[in-house]
Amino acid sequence: ELNLVPVRENNDGEFSGVLLVLQDVSAIRRLERMRSEFVANVSHELKTPIAAVKGFAETLLGGAVKDEETARSFLQIIFDESERLNRLIGDILELSKIESRRVPLMFSPVEMDGFIDKTVKLLEPEAKRKGIALERDVESGLYLEADEDRLRQIMMNLLSNGINYTPEGGHVTIRIYAYGDEQVRIQIRDSGIGIPKKDLPRVFERFYRVDKARSRSSGGTGLGLSIVKHLVELHKGTISVSSTVGVGTTFTIDLPVIQ
Ligand code: ADP
Repeated sequence: ELNLVPVRENNDGEFSGVLLVLQDVSAIRRLERMRSEFVANVSHELKTPIAAVKGFAETLLGGAVKDEETARSFLQIIFDESERLNRLIGDILELSKIESRRVPLMFSPVEMDGFIDKTVKLLEPEAKRKGIALERDVESGLYLEADEDRLRQIMMNLLSNGINYTPEGGHVTIRIYAYGDEQVRIQIRDSGIGIPKKDLPRVFERFYRVDKARSRSSGGTGLGLSIVKHLVELHKGTISVSSTVGVGTTFTIDLPVIQ
């Protein structure tokens, strides 16, 4: 942005020149653009389930309610879509809280073996139902200074993605080990459908999905990985992903042992 400011030499009111002010507004513009893109995305994401709820309710009101079987299946769709809306709104609020740093982290030493025990228990029923083996290889006696609830949120997101995007009979493996003296490496590997190379750099973006239909049918919001990335960064860590289509995907997180 360019501004011209008149400059006076003395107090006699005569102008002696102009001051040229150049201001770099590209960062501000970028932020504005990101914000309006986010609002557009959110609106779009909310509209889809709302349209479904409205459409099926209208059809029911228009007479379909008289046929019990149809009515049941439509009501199920309305119920599922409402759940989806709930999840979406929850994730959007969560992401916006994290992004504006309104989540105070409570750091304490977390013993990894016990932590993974508890986390895996929460996901075992889901894995069993889908016929997927949850395996682990966790170095014993490993401690990490972290916010335990947030660390669990990171693990739950990555593990449930692993379960979601892996066909029956496959496996999801958690590996945790000391990486050098000051870091812990957490790896979550699955034997699932994988992510095409061209999509890999974008999976941490909000609402980005490789396969929209698949993400929808598994109840995804497309926000899980953005939330994970932010939470890892709040722990001063890094996250990366590697994948081969049809073979599987590995997420690698490096976290400092001490914050
Ligand atoms: P979603 O709610 O759709 O799962 P995420 O932010 O968690 O959203 O993930 C973004 C996209 O990355 C997913 O829609 C999916 O296409 C892809 N993805 C994430 N994890 C995996 C995985 N373990 N295997 C294959 N694809 C994955």
